[in-house]
Amino acid sequence: MEDIVLSAFSVFFIQSPSFLAYQKTMKNANGMSNAETLFTIEKIPSDNHIRDILDNVHPELLFPVFDMIFEMLKKNGYLNSFRGINRNLLIALDGTQCFSSEKIHCKNCSVTHHRDGTTTYHHSVITPVIVTPGKKHAISLCPEFITPQDGHEKQDSEIATAKRWICKYAGKYVAKQTTILGDDLYSRQPFCEELLELGFHFILVCKQTSHKTLYKWVNLVESIGNLHVFTIKVLNGRKTEIHTYRYANKLPIRDTDDALMVNWCELTIRNEGGEILYKNAFITDHIITAENVTSIVRSGRARWKIENENNNTLKTKGYNLEHNYGHGDDHLSTVLVTLNILAFLIHTLMEFIDEKYRLLRDSLPTRKTFFDDIRALTRYMCFGSWDDMMDFMLKGLEIEMPPNQR
Ligand SMILES: [Zn+2]
Repeated sequence: MEDIVLSAFSVFFIQSPSFLAYQKTMKNANGMSNAETLFTIEKIPSDNHIRDILDNVHPELLFPVFDMIFEMLKKNGYLNSFRGINRNLLIALDGTQCFSSEKIHCKNCSVTHHRDGTTTYHHSVITPVIVTPGKKHAISLCPEFITPQDGHEKQDSEIATAKRWICKYAGKYVAKQTTILGDDLYSRQPFCEELLELGFHFILVCKQTSHKTLYKWVNLVESIGNLHVFTIKVLNGRKTEIHTYRYANKLPIRDTDDALMVNWCELTIRNEGGEILYKNAFITDHIITAENVTSIVRSGRARWKIENENNNTLKTKGYNLEHNYGHGDDHLSTVLVTLNILAFLIHTLMEFIDEKYRLLRDSLPTRKTFFDDIRALTRYMCFGSWDDMMDFMLKGLEIEMPPNQR
């Protein structure tokens, strides 16, 4: 079992669909391969064997590894720099589609029947990540898969899945002072109430089109002169930007007697010519003041990273979601996605804790170059350990380690 999981993981970690085939060839020629030395795989299983076995493995069995890494980061103080408003951890929730086909499907596919008679099978997943303003890294937490029972509309199913996630993990994260970030889909009363009941804080995108009552109140408050507004000039490179903040506390989220009262803020960025470069608004349960409104908006804006850094990287930067193992009948598809996210998390972890890895990543121009090199090196050479491989790369690139790290 260990060989099977490690083998599938190695493909995502090296980002090479052919990694196992190359290592088999190497083993036959030299009696040893990187599968053994780098991944401690004793015997490389066939793709069919991996597929058959992993199809029966529920992805939740891998979740403790995510928790282990979170605890490791926390224990070593790496999370201290990952704090936003009121020293809160910021966890961004976002759904992303990780599989879509008109033919291939399994028991756990969500199904959409189109008007023209065609059918699409798909899998989507919520990928929670810890983000923080001004940091490029996002730390992946346990994913939650959207199941066919979650709802027929995209929004319903994503919210149902997000609710499941916050209920499951409240015990773990609430005590650590956590603010949940999400897009406009999440800024509805039932979800906000659930977050508050569980003890989470929130900063959620709040669009005018979906919050007509709240914006009526914003206008009303403005008309009687009670809306807080201030403007600052910010130097962005050589250009000056005009940042206008507007905010008000305790506005009803919707048009009902039992409406939840929320705090609202908005940032508009203009260039010196007055042209709007950026505009976004958020609701939050944190009381907004002149002192903290910029921090709240900065925390809220950190959410974009889940799309840019996380989901985009997983989809386009070499983490071949799905790979050639195929889809399976039961869990294969979701187990592979989980292993893939785990590979991404461990790459992030290595940038924190492994000086050699960080030096190499910083020295090579792109993520792609780094993995192209690893793919080529592991195809032709057998390294005794990760450390040996990184030493070899550092030497070849003539990079000196700082004295205390040698
Ligand atoms: Zn499926």
